[in-house]
Formats: sequence, C-alpha cells, structure tokens
Amino acid sequence: MKVSFNKAGFIILLTFLAVINLYSQNIPYTILISFDGFRWDYTSRGLTPNFDYIEKHGVKALSLKPSFPSITFPNHISIVTGMYPQNHGVIANTMYDPATDKIYSLYDTAEVRNAYWYKGEMIWETARRQGVITASYFWPGSEMNLNYRRPNYYEKYEHSRDYLERINGVINWLKLPYSERPKFITLYYDLTDSEGHRYGPDSPQVNAAISKLDSLLGVLFNKLEEINLRDSVNIIIVSDHGMTEISKDRYLNIEELSSCNSCKFFNRGAIMNIFIKDKNEVDAVYNRLKLKESHYKVYKPSEIPAEYHFNYNHLIGDLFILSEPGWSVGTTKDKDRMHDYNGGNHGFDNSFMDMHGIFYAIGPSFKENYKTGTIENINIYPLLCKILKIVPKQNIDGKLENISFILKERE
Ligand code: AMP
Ligand code: ZN
Ligand code: ZN
Repeated sequence: MKVSFNKAGFIILLTFLAVINLYSQNIPYTILISFDGFRWDYTSRGLTPNFDYIEKHGVKALSLKPSFPSITFPNHISIVTGMYPQNHGVIANTMYDPATDKIYSLYDTAEVRNAYWYKGEMIWETARRQGVITASYFWPGSEMNLNYRRPNYYEKYEHSRDYLERINGVINWLKLPYSERPKFITLYYDLTDSEGHRYGPDSPQVNAAISKLDSLLGVLFNKLEEINLRDSVNIIIVSDHGMTEISKDRYLNIEELSSCNSCKFFNRGAIMNIFIKDKNEVDAVYNRLKLKESHYKVYKPSEIPAEYHFNYNHLIGDLFILSEPGWSVGTTKDKDRMHDYNGGNHGFDNSFMDMHGIFYAIGPSFKENYKTGTIENINIYPLLCKILKIVPKQNIDGKLENISFILKERE
C-alpha cells in the first residue's frame, strides 16, 4: 500500500515538474511553410523581396535536397519524420500494397487518413507526447485517423481554400490563450507546383506564382506584427522538390515495351512501380525492359543505387522504372493524357539540381545573414525537435549535427 502511494506521488511530482519545465523553457513559436514545387533558384529571378529580406536577416541554404523520389507526399513526410521514404513508408503519391491489395492515392481521402501507411513518427506526435501543442494548416500526413498521431489542431485539405484564409487560420491559433496556443504550426501552398506542371518552370505563370507566394510572406509578417509576435516567431520556408521541363515528345510507353501479361503499373511520369503477379515472369519482363533501356532505367529493388536509399520496402514493387530527367514514362492508357506530359514535372533523380527545393529560416532561433550550402530535408525533423526542446524519435535518418550550425545557440 505504502509502495503504491509512493509510486503515485512520484508520478504526480514528475508530471508537475514536466509541466513547470515546459513553461519555464520558453519554447519559441515556429511556423513551417511549404511552397510545393518551389525550385531552389526561383528566388534569383528578382521577384521575391520578402525572400530577400529573410536572406539578409535570417538563414538561406543554397538548396534543399529532397529525398528520393522527389515527389510531394514522400518528401513532406520526410520533412516531418526525419526519415527516408523507404523507412517512413510513403514511397510515392500512389502506392499499391500487394500484401493487402489496397491502393493509396492522395485523391482517396480515406486512405490518406489511414494510419496503416505511415510507419514514421511525425513531429506532432513526438511533440504531443511531450506536452508541446502543435497545429497544421495542411500538410500530408496531418489528417491521420488516430487522434494521438495528429497535430492538436488541424485543417482537412481543401485544394482551393482561400490563401489569406489560411494565414488568418494560423494567426487565430496564435491568438489562443497561452495554455492552448500551439508552439509549432504548418502551412502549405500548392501554387508553384500546379503552375509548374501546367506551364513549365520557366513560364510567366510560374513567375506570377513566385510573386504571389512571396507577397503572402509579406502578409504573414504584417499579421504577426499586428499581434505583437513578429519577433518571437521562427519562420521556416521549405519546398518538397523542384521542377524541370518535360515534353510529350519525350514519352515512353513502358506497358508496350514490357509486353507483360500479369503486370500492374502504378505511378507515371518520372517513376513507375511494376507489380508482376506471375513471379516467373519477373526476369523475362526485366530483361525485355533492360534490352530497350533508353531514357529510363529499369531496376530490381535491390539494384536501385544506394544513394537513393530506396531498396527496402515491399511497396516499391517487383520492378522500378526511373525516367531520365525531362522524360516521362507511362502506360497505353496514359497516352490519352498527353497534356500531362507537356510543361513541368518532378520525381527524378534527387541529385539533379532542378529537383532541389528551398530552405529559408528567420526568427529568434536562427543566425542572421547566414548562408549555407545544400541541406538534406531529413535533417529538418531533428532541427524542429531541437527548437521545440523535445526529444526526437530514435532510429531516424536525419542528423541534428548536419543542420544545427544554422542555429544561434547550438546548445
Ligand atoms: P504532386 O503530384 O506530387 O505534384 O502533388 C501535388 C499535389 O498534392 C497538390 O496539387 C495537392 O493537390 C496535393 N496535396 C498536397 N497536400 C495535400 C494534402 N494534405 N492532402 C491531399 N492532397 C494534397
Ligand atoms: Zn510537391
Ligand atoms: Zn507536383
């Protein structure tokens, strides 16, 4: 009896100390913004006065290297888990799981919310367990069907949600009473990706998108000023990948080239996952595609170059196709969607500079007028944990020491 009282007392004391600790640690507010498909060099077009301001008063990396493949969902999730896609499980925007016969697609809301697919721990889960409140105004993986794996506050993705309304949502969270106010908030805009796909990275439409997103940063700064938080908020701006020009004249029909009876093809454009029902057919299909290999590479998962960190996941398929930058692969059915093969695309080799995104940061935690080289996006999760004063999940791929030099105080 006496022992259990002591135990309970000890737990209450620990909880009390943890709460006091959180309050006394003075964790800064941090807003993580993603501009989808915002290529690393878009800020050198003379269209971005607010980015220029951040460059002068904060941190700018030459580029943010995406994880492979350079696609939206895998990379947004690498950013918030610190893991490569093969390890956090979201290896593409569309995935087929041969074990369950289920298909994941970013257009299938039920599957997007299905926690089954997400094997990594996202920053909001780490934070929540340690008593730090988080919020998300859109982010892939923020809407999971398990409460404890979600941010405390979140918005369900709505592609056409008004851009200013999103900023107002963030500001409203920051106006909550202190004990309910989130310390970490995400914000997401698709515009540069959508225009980049349609018109290509060098189009006037992409330039207009760059200007518009830059001016939104100005709006955010002003609104933070209005609520007297401008100097106490860290703002980190990233993108999930870049964009390169493609053409319908650079299209290859992999279904035709494979002459495969029992193949299922998932994804198209830069990458393709092939699942072969009849395992006796794998070598023959591989050999046929290998023989015709031109402007694409065909791999068995074990052969995918080590630098991609993309070998060990059963969702990769029996065979994996990677297009040469600027080229597209697809199926016979995809040929009817040729308009998708003009303009721009991403998903290619993540060392190809056109696939690189941006990393900018400004606020009380960051050095001023500090420039660094390319940063890998898996290092952002440990950085966020450091800023939020929480213990990161173990066994991740990112490392704090690869990024902590951008912080004002490293310890
Ligand atoms: P991608 O095919 O890689 O270019 O994906 C970009 C698209 O992902 C955007 O145009 C959005 O429609 C979609 N998207 C981004 N975030 C979310 C989200 N949280 N939920 C559902 N779809 C999203
Ligand atoms: Zn994207
Ligand atoms: Zn895209």
